[in-house]
Amino acid sequence: MGAPHFELIRHDIINPIYLEVDEIYNLACPASPVHYQFNPIKTIKTNVMGVINVLGIAKRTKAKVLQASTSEIYGDPEVNPQNESYWGKVNPIGIRSCYDEGKRAAECLMMDYRRQNSVNTKIVRIFNTYGPRMAINDGRVVSNFIIQALQDKKITIYGDGTHTRSFCYSDDLIEGLILMMNSIDEFYGPVNIGNPGEFTILQLAQIIIKLTKSSSKIEFQPLPSDDPAQRKPDITLAKEKIGWSPKIDLEEGLISTIRYFREVLKLS
Ligand code: UDP
Repeated sequence: MGAPHFELIRHDIINPIYLEVDEIYNLACPASPVHYQFNPIKTIKTNVMGVINVLGIAKRTKAKVLQASTSEIYGDPEVNPQNESYWGKVNPIGIRSCYDEGKRAAECLMMDYRRQNSVNTKIVRIFNTYGPRMAINDGRVVSNFIIQALQDKKITIYGDGTHTRSFCYSDDLIEGLILMMNSIDEFYGPVNIGNPGEFTILQLAQIIIKLTKSSSKIEFQPLPSDDPAQRKPDITLAKEKIGWSPKIDLEEGLISTIRYFREVLKLS
């Protein structure tokens, strides 16, 4: 932020904007179910109208554009792990579809602008990511559990705790995004970026209780509809094509994330 030539422009990508750029990382869109379901129409507009605007800039300026897609493309997957050739199992009319179908439409737009207008596009499918500087009200599982554990409050597990997720540390993700942006033009994805270490939600709760030395008890709550039962990335393609694999394992990443939340909650 302090660099002399850095300029921050606050702008909603749903509205057109004229910028001169070389590279675009389109990360616009809330990723937490709580946030993307708060205003679902806005979520799908961001992923359709917003992505059309982003691709319009890329077409006019000949910029390279990287789209942050998601493991939600795979919906509630019938295969585990998921590789990029799996087409997914998505409910088109459910409460998650503003995000799932929005991101699928965004991938479609990226590919059509590539084929029809020769835009230099790249698609990255991001799996669950966490790390320091997540918002206290983010609502996703890692930050919820850490905040609950640090305050010795009940840990809220939705469902019976057997659902799985694979958690990637934010620094690893960022490295993957940059490697993909700088990869050869002939490789445009989609490519999975995620940590293949798969954990049940109950295991995650137990690890966080252990690392925070918390006296929290677990409370089982109803599972939200369409919550995917399992999720684990196959990252063979990322390894082969961009030489990427994650370096930070779950416990190590959780330790720095816990340290961060201790500071913001003023518990240290
Ligand atoms: N989850 C949970 N308790 C929470 C928040 C989430 O048990 O306080 C579960 C949620 O039902 C899902 C998993 O944790 O099975 C991951 O949820 P999250 O919202 O982090 O991301 P998602 O992968 O569903 O987009």
